[in-house]
Amino acid sequence: MPRATKIVATIGPASTEPDVLAKLILAGVDCVRLNFSHGTAADHMLRADRVRTAARNAGREVAIMADLQGPKIRVGKFVDGKAALEADATFVLDAEYDGLGDADHVGLDYKELPRDVHPGDILLLSDGLIELVVDRVEGPRIVTRVKVGGDLSNNKGINRQGGGLTAPALTMKDMEDIKTAMKLGADYVAVSFPKNATDMSMARLLANAAADEAKVSHPYMIAKIERAEAIPALQEILDASDGIMVARGDLAIEVGNAAVPALQKRMIKMARASNRFTITATQMMESMIVNAVPTRAEVSDVANAVLDGTDAVMLSAESASGRYPVATVQAMATIVTAADESETIELDRDFLDQTFSRVDQSIAYGALFTAHHLRCKAIVALTDSGSTALWMSRHDIDIPIFALTPRMATLRKLALLRNVRAFELEEFQDRDAALVASVQLLLRKGVVNSGDLIVITVGEPMGSAGGTNTLKIVKVGELLARPAEAAA
Ligand code: PGA
Ligand code: MN
Repeated sequence: MPRATKIVATIGPASTEPDVLAKLILAGVDCVRLNFSHGTAADHMLRADRVRTAARNAGREVAIMADLQGPKIRVGKFVDGKAALEADATFVLDAEYDGLGDADHVGLDYKELPRDVHPGDILLLSDGLIELVVDRVEGPRIVTRVKVGGDLSNNKGINRQGGGLTAPALTMKDMEDIKTAMKLGADYVAVSFPKNATDMSMARLLANAAADEAKVSHPYMIAKIERAEAIPALQEILDASDGIMVARGDLAIEVGNAAVPALQKRMIKMARASNRFTITATQMMESMIVNAVPTRAEVSDVANAVLDGTDAVMLSAESASGRYPVATVQAMATIVTAADESETIELDRDFLDQTFSRVDQSIAYGALFTAHHLRCKAIVALTDSGSTALWMSRHDIDIPIFALTPRMATLRKLALLRNVRAFELEEFQDRDAALVASVQLLLRKGVVNSGDLIVITVGEPMGSAGGTNTLKIVKVGELLARPAEAAA
């Protein structure tokens, strides 16, 4: 049984060399993340190129996610690269100051910030390590008192406890980066700090236009849930997106650490019910940035994300700039495999409240139900758009789903779906020929054997998106022995 939960690894200075990339892919990375908060367009183009080459050499598909920086509000730079803020001292954030900062004041990249904050607001800097309380706003100057001090270095992020900073979700830089992302053929675009469905629809419009321009297929859009305002808007954001990221880093700062575990469970549940996928991100294997083994707590965190129903787990600095990128992916793969296998399958109960109105959807659920009760070895979906495999993968089942598609873009877009493995199958006009070729392909891949009972879904006539209308239950060997008859 192949591993069900997928692994996303951020690529950075520690993982740009071709030999490291090759090892990461061998260790099981399903999707690489290019973090547009760091590096130049040329860096990302080079990395994407190398990922495609390494994937080709490994004989498998690896998807690429472009993660936009978004309107992260940041302080400017300091004389010495940083300043030590003392508790109880006064510290000024000055939107009009262009020089280098010190322990008394610093500039701001987001000039509107003084209009968004009020006396008494708590500002969290540097991932929440430093806490400032707003005392008063004097024009462009936010005068604060340091509540929790520490070293504040260049360009660190600023969040307000409780959220509510109004920066628009797509910056000028993001709009440029979307073009770069489509030029390098990214399969997924992750949008940082969306507040509502409009932010996501805007991003999708821009991404689709850039994709058309670059003559690549439209990407899947991922909403990073990391703002307090995104929580009440979750359903509309889900409806406007293909998937979400539980972006625990910024989210924890805005809503408080303690609220995040329950939110993670709720987000994953809602995403599955809305036919969307989920990536659980940030600090999953944090200690492996410097250590060769994870902590017990990290092992539990990764396993629990799997048990919550996430499609994928993500690495950030661990694989981008850590000391042990390959060992981290290996450790993560071991943890998720054990968690996958420990899952209790309750498909019948899962289906109790399920209603649906589409033919292809009913075939997808029928295939799951049949495979579960007849104890089939594999569920096979011949799919153009990938939607059959998406529906199937929204329910836990201990039988692997194989998506066979002639479209490379569909193939890579299925990379993040839990329990789905996608293979390329040439295009067929004739259904029976397609069924025979499918079974031959799965035999070649070593994922089915001659005596196995399998379930296949297919559309007739072939090749129309959303046209799945047929469910076949076959024994592998028999289909090959009497193809025309068995498939009739
Ligand atoms: P980031 O997003 O790593 O781009 O900040 C993830 C998060 O905030 O958790
Ligand atoms: Mn973030």
